Amino acid sequence: MRSLLLVLCIHASFTLYSQDDKRTPESTEIWEPQPRIVTPGTDPNTPPSDAIVLFDGTNLNQWVSEKGGPTQWPVANNSVTVKPDAGAIKTKQEFGDMQLHIEWRTPPVKDQSKVSQQRGNSGIFLQERYEVQVLDNYQNKTYANGQAGSIYKQHIPLVNACKAPEQWQTYDIIYTAPRFNTEGRMIIPAYVTIFHNGVVVQNHTALNGPTEYRGLPVYKAHGKAPLLLQDHGNEVSYRNIWVREL
Ligand code: MG
Repeated sequence: MRSLLLVLCIHASFTLYSQDDKRTPESTEIWEPQPRIVTPGTDPNTPPSDAIVLFDGTNLNQWVSEKGGPTQWPVANNSVTVKPDAGAIKTKQEFGDMQLHIEWRTPPVKDQSKVSQQRGNSGIFLQERYEVQVLDNYQNKTYANGQAGSIYKQHIPLVNACKAPEQWQTYDIIYTAPRFNTEGRMIIPAYVTIFHNGVVVQNHTALNGPTEYRGLPVYKAHGKAPLLLQDHGNEVSYRNIWVREL
């Protein structure tokens, strides 16, 4: 009986093996097209060869004021700093799907009475509409869906990966723009993945719509749009901003 079972097992495995054997290993290899060659930067923060450098620390030639005309934000020490009440700045170029690298630094806390949303508040608006919050949340509590790494008023970050004020922090953002049909209805929402200082804080998060301070968001059809940096009245600095279109 035991030997009969053994024979049956061997026969069964031989049959399976024979079927698999008809498909060669090569039959599942894809050779063309080959991926385009990109030369990486010297480190993950440095722009790779196909990046569009939006700010390299020298000038804001690729930016305009949201209010119209040139931006008034001061450039110094390889960074640009929000000029309170000068208004947001946005890129001249418009973007859709992209990989974005941006570094930011919140100012020192001079007034301990400033808490929650009053510390180092700015924001990165993807396509001018969808805010990735920039805020000093190092030992500073606020509503969870409004803290650094949140999609403002929509999605709480997975963790709080904030560094202390005056330290440079990084966001690496992978963004897929929403898709709309010919009638202007959203058929696929925007998605975003965010690394804050190398830590995943948003993992393929579906956006609910444009950022709203009051009320709930509702998608409205749009095409490519600028990247916008918010003036929230705090002297937040930015540097090393680059994009790869996807
Ligand atoms: Mg903000």
